[in-house]
Amino acid sequence: MNNVGDFLKTNGIKPSYQRIKIYEYLMQNKEHPTVDSIYNALNGQIPTLSKTTVYNTLKIFIDKGIAMAITIDDNEVRYDAWMDIHGHFKCTHCQQVTDFSVDFDGIVGEELLDFDVLERQLFLYGVCKKCKEES
Ligand SMILES: [Zn+2]
Ligand SMILES: [Zn+2]
Repeated sequence: MNNVGDFLKTNGIKPSYQRIKIYEYLMQNKEHPTVDSIYNALNGQIPTLSKTTVYNTLKIFIDKGIAMAITIDDNEVRYDAWMDIHGHFKCTHCQQVTDFSVDFDGIVGEELLDFDVLERQLFLYGVCKKCKEES
């Protein structure tokens, strides 16, 4: 708990109980939760929690560079605390989102030479190994 608090402080974020809980949840749940799923998971532990608080807290995390929003689905934003560059694979059967490492430098063509790239996202869609084995 203290470590997360210190980490938030180091990144210029006042470590309130709610913020610590939300960041811990993001770290522990790698399935890229939405505002709704974070709210539903923590609502029982933090009686004063609202969806607006969750949303605003995530916004602060993103502004400070310790979390990112991914829009792999058209209609919902998911959140991720793994800040190393990586891609996302979404299984169209079980809807699971899987992280994978990617070497962006190796896949970007020379068309972007001398461009400043500010954000890198790579989304792949398909059927995951588990679903393939079950079908
Ligand atoms: Zn699957
Ligand atoms: Zn991810």
